[in-house]
Amino acid sequence: MTSLASTSAGRPSPPATPSIIEVSHVTKSFTSPDGSPLPVLDDISLSLHEGEIVALLGRSGSGKSTLLRCLAGLIAPTSGTVSYRGTPLNGANPGVSMVFQSFALLPWLTVAQNVELGLEAQGVGPAERKMRAEAVIDRIGLDGFESAFPKELSGGMRQRVGFARALVVEPDALLMDEPFSALDVLTALNLRAELLRLWSEPDFPTKAMLIVTHNIEEAVVLADRIFVLGSNPGRIRSEISCMFPQPRNRHDEAFGALVDQIYTLMTGGSTGAPAHVWTTATPGEGSPTEVPLPAATVGGMSGLLEILEARGGRDDLPQLAHDLTFEVDDLLPLVDAAQLLGLAEVEDADIEITDEGRGFVAADIQRSKEIFAREAEDRAPLVRAICRSLRATKDGTLGEGFFLDLLRRGFSEEEVRQQLDIAIQWGRYGELFDFDATTGQLTLEPPHPKVQSA
Ligand code: ADP
Ligand code: MG
Repeated sequence: MTSLASTSAGRPSPPATPSIIEVSHVTKSFTSPDGSPLPVLDDISLSLHEGEIVALLGRSGSGKSTLLRCLAGLIAPTSGTVSYRGTPLNGANPGVSMVFQSFALLPWLTVAQNVELGLEAQGVGPAERKMRAEAVIDRIGLDGFESAFPKELSGGMRQRVGFARALVVEPDALLMDEPFSALDVLTALNLRAELLRLWSEPDFPTKAMLIVTHNIEEAVVLADRIFVLGSNPGRIRSEISCMFPQPRNRHDEAFGALVDQIYTLMTGGSTGAPAHVWTTATPGEGSPTEVPLPAATVGGMSGLLEILEARGGRDDLPQLAHDLTFEVDDLLPLVDAAQLLGLAEVEDADIEITDEGRGFVAADIQRSKEIFAREAEDRAPLVRAICRSLRATKDGTLGEGFFLDLLRRGFSEEEVRQQLDIAIQWGRYGELFDFDATTGQLTLEPPHPKVQSA
């Protein structure tokens, strides 16, 4: 039996058409604030072939933008190679243009001037620039907006300018970094369909497209092949062939099944290796840098558990995300947090509330704080480390710098702050410790039973 969608268990082969970009054993490390290497990409190999749309799917922080910048030749890999049409890159990739989430338009230039920019860089003369810009502006539905400034346009129209500017140079391959993420749902839907329409035109000059996204449905709507990236460091967890005919219908059974399957991969269910160390919710184990805290608020996580309980205690994650109009990046940190704290379990693409989770949801506020405090101290290593360190002091107080330094061994500066902020929020909710932002001091929350008995 052949299936239109297959995972890397059956290793789908890339198309037989010529390859445009080859990525071979690429790793990339940045330097962490304390000087040690921070691995972001680990042994990535993939190729982009003529005639295909490839999606790079992963959670935020999994290194997607970093990988795309390596493909574009904007940064050099730490090891491994990126080749364009068989020639290893040594600087910017001559065959690609990029579209960014933030549009990246120059606000002081008109639509036409923004679009002409790329051609100017190539040394194309003014008359030809004008002609080519007009043609692409027409093609992309910006007719009549040539002399408008970006600030006069809606988000959707601005991103059309982003596409026009990338396409005017007729790139061999188009690289897109979350191009629809900043748009509202309907505008994004519309622009995706528009992109597919352009792609299907016989005289569309671009031969392949690669899109980075954290949106599973977006990947399944657009791509012929999907690479699922895992985090910390980013590596390819799975390669999925996705050959449904266009236009694709998200209500099709096969479409839904593939979305489910990818959810499973991204939540580290039984068919894949853990997506992340978050799934090791073993009490008392793991260090703060080995088990990062998911970026979830207590309120968000309790909300998820309450909804889950109201829906019978078990639900299909894609269905839940869809009903709540959440995207994977919004929902998964809540799922991860509930899982880390032992309040929910995830298997395949289903999430189920645990007995502790039920107790947490049903309890009054004081009791739910106690349950939360116990689970957080048991299972969230950073919360545990803060409690223990504070208890080891005479006055139950420590400056945040102590914990920031500890975290710098395994996280970038931005993540260091984020991790401590999450832990503080969790610790406050559980009344384990408090934080004074003006003095930067963390303090054990008195009267704490464990302190009193000590
Ligand atoms: P994604 O696009 O999947 O969200 P990124 O590629 O932007 O992920 O980032 C992956 C990781 O690399 C993050 O932890 C980020 O903090 C880190 N990172 C990205 N760029 C740099 C940089 N220039 N210096 C240090 N760390 C970086
Ligand atoms: Mg990114």
